[in-house]
Amino acid sequence: MFKFLSSDPVHNPTASSTADTEVKTTTCYMCACRCGIRVHLRDGQVRYIDGNPDHPLNKGVICAKGSSGIMKQVSPARLTQPLLRKPGSERGEGVFEPISWERAFDILETRLSHLRATDPKKFALFTGRDQMQALTGLFARQFGTPNYAAHGGFCSVNMAAGMIYSVGGSFWEFGGPDLDHAKLFVMIGTAEDHHSNPMKMALGKFKRAGGRFISINPVRTGYSAIADEWIPIRPGTDGALFMALLHELIAHDLVDRPFLQRFTNAPQLVVLDEGEREGLFAFDSAAGVPGDGRNPHNKLAWDLTSGRAVQAYPEGVEEGRSLALEGHYTLPDGTRVAPAFQLLRERVSQHTPEWAEAITGIAAERIRQLAREMGETALHQAFELPIPWTDAWGKQHPTTQARPVAFHAMRGLAAHSNGFQTVRSLAVLMSVLGTIDAPGGFRHKAPYPRHIVPNYRAFNDPDMIKPNTPLNAAPLGFPANPEELAVHADGTPLRIDHAFSWEHPLSAHGLMHNVITNAVRGDPYKIDTLLIFMANMAWNSTMNTMEVRKKLNARGEDGEYLIPFLVVCDAFQSETVAFADLVLPDTTYLERHDVMSMLDRPISEFDGPVDSVRVPVVEPTGECKPFQEVLIELASRLKFPVFTNEDGSRKFKDYPDFVVNFQAQPGVGFLMGWRGKDGTQHLRGEPNPNQWEMYAKNNCVFQHHMPKDQQYMRNWNRPYLDFAKEKGWRQKNDPVQLAIYSDTLQTFRLAAQGKSKGRQPPDHLRERIATYFDPLPFWYEPLENACVDTQQFPLAAITQRPMAMYHSWDSQNAWLRQIHSHNYLHVNPVTAKAAGVEDGGWAWVTSAWGELRCMVRHSDAVEPGTVWTWNAIGKASGAWQLAPGADESRKGFLLNHLITEELPFAGGQISNSDPVTGQAGWYDVRVNLRPAQPEEPAASFPQVRTVPSVPGLLRSGRRVMTHILSKKP
Ligand code: SF4
Repeated sequence: MFKFLSSDPVHNPTASSTADTEVKTTTCYMCACRCGIRVHLRDGQVRYIDGNPDHPLNKGVICAKGSSGIMKQVSPARLTQPLLRKPGSERGEGVFEPISWERAFDILETRLSHLRATDPKKFALFTGRDQMQALTGLFARQFGTPNYAAHGGFCSVNMAAGMIYSVGGSFWEFGGPDLDHAKLFVMIGTAEDHHSNPMKMALGKFKRAGGRFISINPVRTGYSAIADEWIPIRPGTDGALFMALLHELIAHDLVDRPFLQRFTNAPQLVVLDEGEREGLFAFDSAAGVPGDGRNPHNKLAWDLTSGRAVQAYPEGVEEGRSLALEGHYTLPDGTRVAPAFQLLRERVSQHTPEWAEAITGIAAERIRQLAREMGETALHQAFELPIPWTDAWGKQHPTTQARPVAFHAMRGLAAHSNGFQTVRSLAVLMSVLGTIDAPGGFRHKAPYPRHIVPNYRAFNDPDMIKPNTPLNAAPLGFPANPEELAVHADGTPLRIDHAFSWEHPLSAHGLMHNVITNAVRGDPYKIDTLLIFMANMAWNSTMNTMEVRKKLNARGEDGEYLIPFLVVCDAFQSETVAFADLVLPDTTYLERHDVMSMLDRPISEFDGPVDSVRVPVVEPTGECKPFQEVLIELASRLKFPVFTNEDGSRKFKDYPDFVVNFQAQPGVGFLMGWRGKDGTQHLRGEPNPNQWEMYAKNNCVFQHHMPKDQQYMRNWNRPYLDFAKEKGWRQKNDPVQLAIYSDTLQTFRLAAQGKSKGRQPPDHLRERIATYFDPLPFWYEPLENACVDTQQFPLAAITQRPMAMYHSWDSQNAWLRQIHSHNYLHVNPVTAKAAGVEDGGWAWVTSAWGELRCMVRHSDAVEPGTVWTWNAIGKASGAWQLAPGADESRKGFLLNHLITEELPFAGGQISNSDPVTGQAGWYDVRVNLRPAQPEEPAASFPQVRTVPSVPGLLRSGRRVMTHILSKKP
């Protein structure tokens, strides 16, 4: 105590390290950015964490979250032993008894082996914000269940799918803005979360170099606060802005015509005649069967030089051709056609800035200026880098053309029910400016770009769900046409979350937010065991939180739970833990092996692929076991083929052994560095038994720098495409033409219109598919607007993540709680005063689906039609080992209580999600505001019953203090 009261700093980061301090490198996981860190240990205890200066991603930079990892390690909310719900207790009461891992594995093995041998789809594995989907997806596939999803469906799958189906890559992990060469940077719908440290570093450099930064967002926080200009916009209207910008750019010919002609499908001829080819690309039958998204290279274009149709690939790009982007033409067989760009031009012709002003709230004149600024910067301030490159057709380009307008967008666009088409419109906007993989524009990161459509089909054959048999395809993928949907012959869904069904055909990441509701309803069937990893489904990871909590506890007429067995794996006592039948205590990121793999979500840079690992820097706390080890153990006990030798013995000793020796294809494994028996091969090679040691010795990261001539224009870059195929990242080495027009979407629309042979949607979904599967981008109102009275609920309500907290991960973190212990609803003063709500006062917020009481802050940094708050700061009483009266539960609140997980549809219900991808429509909710009465409690509403501590928790904040005070002088 004496030491604690002295004036010496508890920790002096500038002091030279003492001899007994050990420094280990690993990778941060206080958020999903995955910076390199150095963990300073003394006596085996974590004393300090700083950024690793030798790491390519963050170059030594660390944020508040990253350096607070030390408090995560000693958090009082750590689970430390497997727990079984006490017989006779109810789910939600949180009454458990500790059990051994052997018993936990026995319970799981008995239950899962029975399900696998009888009806494998009765097991569902849904994972939250993990970064090991290559393993979890493999586990589900080997088990034989299609019921697997990752977190993307409730995160940003619209961003991933909208971009990948258009340009072959996406923002953040798979691509981003090239701020080293950009002159104008436009950020839309982005909070200060994704790509956190690298974005901050790049922005600082960009601004110092004189770049102009515009942020378009309903809220001016974080990055927007340092923008040169903030353009407030109404939530869910970004697509209207993009359509108006396209209108202006095309009207003023501020488009990159040579780029459109050579590198996109803009010149390809679309059939205009009614019938089964209507709206699809005309094709040369001599060059192959009618193409789809995966076989795109027999399309036609109109050559203005010869006045006839020619093959768009490869002849269309020959020297001397001049491919039409405009006009209407007739093929020799009488078919009427028009270039895709002509149809885009016609589409945006009505979308004037005045039209967009009425929707977005942005003045028409500002939209005009913005379009001019983008177009002139991209085309008239362009420059060339002295980097020669060769395109896919063998043409040598002496330089690389820069297009110095960069964009970045994230969940603000994605988390709306119109998000897919909004992201499509942004991708098309970026494409007409020629910014795709160009210096100063959007740049891919390996293994992207993918093919459009990626060569990953999702499992879709009901006859292939068989006892004790792996699926013949991965549960998740990218459908290219209706035949690839996961539906039965009558069109009903194959999966519990209805992903890849006619309700949400392109749901590339599944629909995590619907699994509980559907499972309880038995729609389309009942399941037995739901295993949830790292997702707080009883609180902030779900819509309609209070009802979902009831559903987790719902029983059938026979008195049994409608979800018979619920397994929760987490490192902390989240709200969901109380509902588990079996709790599996996970480790922290400092206690385990992990991979950021090219098979999954690597940390690649623009100039080449990068993967990285975590290695344990401390021993697991208590009996904690990494979830990866749990999966390897179960896969071995259940004798999944990939995990079992021919003689029936176990193939992999543990997770590190699996990572080293598993090969997705010959020479391609989870990690690409130091392969080959002696560790001398990179990117591809035989397994290396010492691969982990090599990573540990090299800052836990492997980086490959590609030659300059492979770093740009990779959709069409011959050496890069060949290289990527050789290394196993691509199955083909043909070019990836950008999809200005999506014939893939049109195949779904034709089916819905009854114009094509093959699979047809159920009648009640025909109009929905025909409307939203438009091959050209368009804007429509978020679906909730059609279901509620927008006069009664005039305000849009949204959330965002703060810089110091990642989801719900750190409300148990002693340091980070001091930054955010509770949240306010931020309201423009004009709106607040009109509602009679005072700054700092309590107010009721009501939607068509629920109501809550919270504290309000007046803020000029939000447009008047929007209210917003930080996500996941509010907590259930007693959860996360917070005291029952903690600010998080008494003053914090969740907006989720106001959001419905289903909307009325066709006399029934349908997921409150994007109709194309199933992305959760988090940001569509409409609300109104009224002051709370003085006699009402000064506490947030709703409140839930306090959950008790579970056995084995580290229990007390004393542990945190003890940890600090035990520091040696
Ligand atoms: S940005 Fe994320 S990964 Fe990087 S130091 Fe901060 S918390 Fe860790």
